[in-house]
Amino acid sequence: MSNGPVNMFWTGGWDSTFRMLQLVIIEEKRVQPYFIVRSQGSVGFEISAMLGIRAALLRKFPDAKERLLPTRFINNREIICNGEIHKLMKYLQKESKLADQYRYLSAFCEQNDIYDMELSVEKSINYKHRVFDLIKKNLDFSDNKISRSSIHNGSEQFNRQVYELFKYFRFPITKITKSEMREIAIQNDFEDILLMTWFCATPKKGEPCGFCGPCVMNIKENQSFRIPFFRKVLSKIHMPVRVFYRNHIKYGSLNKIITRTKP
Ligand SMILES: [Zn+2]
Repeated sequence: MSNGPVNMFWTGGWDSTFRMLQLVIIEEKRVQPYFIVRSQGSVGFEISAMLGIRAALLRKFPDAKERLLPTRFINNREIICNGEIHKLMKYLQKESKLADQYRYLSAFCEQNDIYDMELSVEKSINYKHRVFDLIKKNLDFSDNKISRSSIHNGSEQFNRQVYELFKYFRFPITKITKSEMREIAIQNDFEDILLMTWFCATPKKGEPCGFCGPCVMNIKENQSFRIPFFRKVLSKIHMPVRVFYRNHIKYGSLNKIITRTKP
């Protein structure tokens, strides 16, 4: 077992912050966080949350200073994505609508020869988590990595592609839900720090919007206490329309019909 720090992508969000705090406070391990800088409106909020969390952590648990190493910031435009990763993404996006961020997360690890980067993918119960759905069948819990061989039935080609794209990562918190993370944080006296995390992808006037993917995920997972009341009510009213749009227009049959009938 390596004595080096645990490599992890830390976004300032709930799941990766929980994992960082779990490693540093409970497991007393050294952590090397990585953050990918993208041109998105939420990036400044994420960095600001991480700075606040680091300061609060060191105030409350001064011993953690030696364990939480300085975050390495990488501009996503400096990540070289090879043709193989493009091909894998194209194949898997057809099957599972996988978010585009995995293209550069994998490419960064490939470029830097990292094969133990922790990705904080949580257990999802009340909402569809595409990566969790994709990896759960082939996850080997002995080392939290994707198994090279197929554990469950499924297309051999599909399993191989999942392995190739995710072979750089460890998935240490796939058995814990967001609510369970909060319980663990309460038991270990770091809930106040966990509540400093940021989650909205498209903030409005500096506050969570209530409508983006992460905001909706928080509402479905009973974590909506962090979304302003008025936006939360609007979001809940809007939810059936959103579900119809995604199922029937954005990804569904109506979209196929419209696409087919375009001149
Ligand atoms: Zn939002």
